[in-house]
Amino acid sequence: MGKVFLIGAGPGDPELMTLKAARALRAADVVLVDELDNRGCLAHARSDAKVIEVGKRGGCKSTPQVFIEKLMVTFARTGQTVARLKGGDPFVFGRGGEEMQALAAEGIEVVVIPGITAGIGVPAALGIPVTHRELSRGVTFVTGHTKNGQEPNWEALARSGTTLVIYMGLGNLEKITSALRAGGMNPKTPACIIENGTFKTQRQVVSTLGGLSAAGFVGPAIVVVGDVVRFAKVAADVPALNPQSRAA
Ligand code: SAH
Repeated sequence: MGKVFLIGAGPGDPELMTLKAARALRAADVVLVDELDNRGCLAHARSDAKVIEVGKRGGCKSTPQVFIEKLMVTFARTGQTVARLKGGDPFVFGRGGEEMQALAAEGIEVVVIPGITAGIGVPAALGIPVTHRELSRGVTFVTGHTKNGQEPNWEALARSGTTLVIYMGLGNLEKITSALRAGGMNPKTPACIIENGTFKTQRQVVSTLGGLSAAGFVGPAIVVVGDVVRFAKVAADVPALNPQSRAA
């Protein structure tokens, strides 16, 4: 029986992957790659490893989850070591939990290797600390896009006093920002959108809750709302990549 490494690849920049992840990739006979993964991570895979793209993005052509799970089971059953490379951290909005359960139900050994989640690594790329002793005593990771359309309680989140880090929030951004304002959050609260964070294609806009607009962004993107966004410094060495920076 083989085993499956459920690996967090980090937010994009391959150097943000852990040493443990690199070692697991070197051990793998089969590597399953997600759409969000930087292909640079594959430099650690063996040249004879079988690489399978199983990308999935909301609304786009994607490999059904059940099929991905079946693939992993099939390879592991034939004694192969499988590396399932997932963007960010496998357990943060990444269905890693579901995959682990599916594999465990088949009696397959799963080794989880955490990664830097986009919600921490992407704000950090702009110098934004998600917590700060004077400005924010906590951080909430939340998704702006849910399977059944059920919304997070934005009004309650507006009052939480924590930095809000919103994954998959572009599509509903207007709804989200108005709900936060309806919940009493000051429209002048600093807020930003960071697209393709830590990739060479990174773009961002730093604005306020009242001024934030998703126009021109296609994602993947992280939205950060909170006073800590004041720390955002737009990379001065790549101005061409940041046409919308500090627009508001
Ligand atoms: N498991 C991943 C999240 C998967 S959900 C993690 O821990 O980071 C996919 C969402 O993550 C995207 O829609 C986007 O909101 C966010 N995301 C992932 N990588 C990103 C990146 N490099 N830049 C901006 N947002 C990113």
